Amino acid sequence: MKFLMLVLDGLGDRPDKRGRTPLEAAKTPNMDSLAREGMTGLVDPIRPGIVPGSDTAHISLLGFNPYEVYMGRGPYEALGAGLTLKEGDLCFRTNFATLESRTNKIEDRRAGRISGNLSELEKAINDIKLPCNFEFKQTVDHRGVLVLRGKKFSDQITSTDPHKTEVPIRKCNSLDKSKESVSSASIVNKFSDLAQKALEECKLNAERKRDKLPPANALLLRGAGVYHENSTVEDAYGIRGSCVAGTAIVKGVAKSMGLEIINVPGATGGADTDIKCKLDFALKTLETRDFCLINIKATDNFSHDGNFKGKTEMIEKIDAKLGGIVRETNKNLVVAILGDHTTPCSLKAHSGDPVPLVIKGPTTRVDLSRGFDEKNCMQGGVGRIRGTDLLLILMNLAGKEKLYGA
Ligand code: ZN
Ligand code: ZN
Repeated sequence: MKFLMLVLDGLGDRPDKRGRTPLEAAKTPNMDSLAREGMTGLVDPIRPGIVPGSDTAHISLLGFNPYEVYMGRGPYEALGAGLTLKEGDLCFRTNFATLESRTNKIEDRRAGRISGNLSELEKAINDIKLPCNFEFKQTVDHRGVLVLRGKKFSDQITSTDPHKTEVPIRKCNSLDKSKESVSSASIVNKFSDLAQKALEECKLNAERKRDKLPPANALLLRGAGVYHENSTVEDAYGIRGSCVAGTAIVKGVAKSMGLEIINVPGATGGADTDIKCKLDFALKTLETRDFCLINIKATDNFSHDGNFKGKTEMIEKIDAKLGGIVRETNKNLVVAILGDHTTPCSLKAHSGDPVPLVIKGPTTRVDLSRGFDEKNCMQGGVGRIRGTDLLLILMNLAGKEKLYGA
């Protein structure tokens, strides 16, 4: 028997003025049937009250303690972008940004959300000469990743992104006095200056200025992290998994834990993502894998926008595609649907509330849940568990746990 972990990003919520969460308001016949014929519960992704990021939450759901293995966001973004990392690489997330040329202050942190073919900019940056090796990759629109390698690096350094406009790019500072931190900060500052010069000379930027568009004449760095090789889910639990996700961060976490990343056409990480195709690909990979983790990101995007209606409709849209999965749970599939964290629309940010969970397989116990939402899950038979418990629970239900003792 195989299992599927379907993570609806930021699914959990708090009630609105009418006393309902989006999951309570949404019409979800498929998820409700899983709840009626299976069991529900609540998951504290990391620990009660801890406000999880998507990265730390997914580490936990894959059975590892994020406090032990989390490397900072940079390495996961770089892995998710398809780069191959080596032990000790220093990784960042990057943004193309617009600097006002007279004042040298940041005018736009995303260079007008620049899009299209940016290979000229990518090449200009990769042609910079630095005292270490490095690799820069533009990913989606203004976003990208930078990996410095070949020296002893430290991630105890500050980011160059001030997270606001009308101020200059920040100098990178070391957070401790170690030789590695000081030299890492100095290389980052050198890179930052040279990137600005290289981008300033790009033809594309001259064209953008002519067309009254904000030029991408600077690169902001944040999320510094040094890559360390992790023990994988297979090492720790003896099972092999795959991951279907639209966002680099989730792909990166999954890859760092040895899951096979399945690239699905039409998986965008947005509301337009091809849900049906993601589910079909996930089921297909189960022919050769023990489990698959699917992440659908759009529910979290709506939450960050404070869009209760959008989140509710997205949940309904996902539910409508779950008929095939529901049928499989009567044969040889255990399914868990849950959030990776709560993102209340009223907060437009993640919170530390536990997330709803439903589990159903062909022979799982049945509790008294009447539907899948925060209220039902509070009384569900799984009770209240931590994120790191989930993998073992699913392994047991899928018959993959061995006898402990005699
Ligand atoms: Zn998330
Ligand atoms: Zn979020």
